[in-house]
Amino acid sequence: MFDLNKILRPNIKNLVPYSSARDEFKGEASVFLDANENSFGSPLPTNYNRYPDPLQHKVKLRLSEIKGVPPRSIFLGNGSDEAIDILFRAFCRPGIDNVITVPPTYGMYEVSANINDVAIRRISLTADYQLDLEGIAEAIDENTKLIFICSPNNPTGNSINRDDIETILANFKGLVVIDEAYINFSKQKTFIQELTEYANLVILQTLSKAWGLAGLRVGMAFASEEIIEIFNKVKPPYNINEASQQLALEALHNVDQVNDWIKQTVMEREILVSNLLEYDFVEKIFPSDANFILVKTSDAKGIYQYLVDHGIIVRDRSKVELCENSLRITIGTPEENKTLLNTLSQLKNKPTEA
Ligand SMILES: *Cc1c(COP(=O)(O)O)cnc(C)c1O
Repeated sequence: MFDLNKILRPNIKNLVPYSSARDEFKGEASVFLDANENSFGSPLPTNYNRYPDPLQHKVKLRLSEIKGVPPRSIFLGNGSDEAIDILFRAFCRPGIDNVITVPPTYGMYEVSANINDVAIRRISLTADYQLDLEGIAEAIDENTKLIFICSPNNPTGNSINRDDIETILANFKGLVVIDEAYINFSKQKTFIQELTEYANLVILQTLSKAWGLAGLRVGMAFASEEIIEIFNKVKPPYNINEASQQLALEALHNVDQVNDWIKQTVMEREILVSNLLEYDFVEKIFPSDANFILVKTSDAKGIYQYLVDHGIIVRDRSKVELCENSLRITIGTPEENKTLLNTLSQLKNKPTEA
């Protein structure tokens, strides 16, 4: 059975969290002289002189309506990268514990592990970019605290089989972290509804991709109230600034615009794929559930450089395992995608002699 207390680091179990002025007095008042703020105001059209809500109640209330989870099951971080880092700091003893990653996948799990001096056990995805369940089962020991599964996966774009993820959720005694940064573009449904089923489930999402707010740095973690309480204990008191909270709240009332962009992106993705498959330097395009595609080419380095020379930047992933000669291409606006295709068609017709 999963026991949260068993996997928590002892120093975090015993931690007395920082108590801010806003934690100690939450009510209404007319004079606030408790936080050493500038009571006159800000040298800006909007006042930012007060510290922001440490627990971002308004944003969480709106997210709760959209996602169908109680506000207490939501954590907001300075990007989902903050949530990843907190998972390490709360659950992994440096130099003792380990985590499992399933490469090729998002690079931050490994960076965060290294920063926190936590060992990584890499169990590569299979040739069709699915989980090697046996390999994962063999890699788990009593010090394995976290398993990171990115679905849809970055940089491969595919979703991970749901049954495989559930097998791990049902058997692993640590936390299963499902990174759903690209879930809005996927035909697969989110694991959020499974939170009531699995006490060891943590879901990461973000406002950086479909929501178009990468510059605001707002990421989300969804988990049991007990896990979210731990996140809140460990996080810096004011980790989401006031401007980001206000703007995120405003954006979260514009669901229709975002859904429209998602539809367009998915349509554009399919158009881009069918056009790219016409080019002889394109060997394979992996099925994508995300707002990018992984394109296997005959010469990733050469094509990458050719595109750079024409002012178009894609991501060369050819050094990543199982991604030989592959480029990761984000789906842009219809105009941007046309520019990409036109530029590439000139590469195709480029005379081979100087
Ligand atoms: C982009 C991305 C994120 C988002 O990180 P933020 O810090 O929220 O911007 C998280 N996970 C994956 C897999 C990503 O590709």
